[in-house]
Amino acid sequence: MRALRCRFDPGPRPVRLGDMTDVALFRGGQLLSTSMLTGDLTTPLSWRCGLGHAFTGSPRLVLIGGHWCPVCVRDTAGYERQAQTNQFLAQLYITHTRPEPLPTPRPESAEPSHHTDDLPRARR
Ligand SMILES: [Zn+2]
Repeated sequence: MRALRCRFDPGPRPVRLGDMTDVALFRGGQLLSTSMLTGDLTTPLSWRCGLGHAFTGSPRLVLIGGHWCPVCVRDTAGYERQAQTNQFLAQLYITHTRPEPLPTPRPESAEPSHHTDDLPRARR
């Protein structure tokens, strides 16, 4: 099974509050915390899932651990319904129903073309 994406790639910069807002939206929920120390992955933040359950969890727990609402996760029979608003969870179903995406084509070579050598040359 391929790794699930959380549509979150901060790159080399530290994570910040706006990133956590995006992560919550991607899961169909909401970030309730209004402040966060930039780059702090361990201090718990307050969240609300798409079904209205409020809970706390650190950015590390959500981003790296893949955790989300502790109430919804116990409702295994409701996963498909939850996936209708939770894109992160929806990837589970997509993973099982779609093939792997095609590899990205490599960019054109930067080397100079030698095709001009194939052209007929004017004879003297
Ligand atoms: Zn929930």
